[in-house]
Amino acid sequence: MDDTIGIEDIERMIRSAVDKIRINCDELSKMDSSIGDGDHGTSITRAMNIAEKILEESDKKDLKKLLKDIGWGVLGCDGGATGPLLGSFLMGLSEPVSDENVIDSSKFAAMFEAGLAGVSRQSKAKVGDKTMMDALMPAVDTLRRVVDDGKTIKEALKKASEAAKKGAVSTKEFKASFGRAKNLGERTIGFQDPGATSMALIFQGFFEGVQ
Ligand code: ADP
Ligand code: MG
Repeated sequence: MDDTIGIEDIERMIRSAVDKIRINCDELSKMDSSIGDGDHGTSITRAMNIAEKILEESDKKDLKKLLKDIGWGVLGCDGGATGPLLGSFLMGLSEPVSDENVIDSSKFAAMFEAGLAGVSRQSKAKVGDKTMMDALMPAVDTLRRVVDDGKTIKEALKKASEAAKKGAVSTKEFKASFGRAKNLGERTIGFQDPGATSMALIFQGFFEGVQ
């Protein structure tokens, strides 16, 4: 497989994801007002601002270090429930990277699998529990499947982003089993989960970042 992605592309993906979250900050908080405490937009924007700041301060010469630094930064921020989960995801992305700054498509999929594994170490939530996992799990599965089909990284990100969006929308049908929304149980049905929505926006940002 000869399709590859470099550190500059990954930088563009992250910047684009930061912008997507920032633009949707108010909407995400509004969604959280329905089934949580109304802070999701501001919490996740704070986390993404930290990611952007670390990116700006980095010399961008070492992809593994860059992703690790961003992950640590986000892990350490005051980001509600999602801060540590998102931090673990970003941190996980760095794990399969060794000293290379150019990543082939299979390694790229492995990065996302490691990101998901990072979140899974913190959360036992699965598809159907009305959390960010409803977007993240299908996105990572899709990314791997499309890459293994021999398609490009761009194509894989496009499909992953679509899967994440579909997963986020599907949360409307579910009853929350994790996080703050769990207390509302059945009353969360009919509302889209803010964390799944922001995860879908992040994947959309990743995809748009490589256009
Ligand atoms: P808080 O609940 O601390 O106010 P946020 O409002 O920032 O945090 O984030 C709420 C989102 O976090 C939810 O919509 C859900 O997607 C996600 N979330 C909460 N708990 C978990 C968990 N245990 N596993 C996965 N995602 C979770
Ligand atoms: Mg909240």
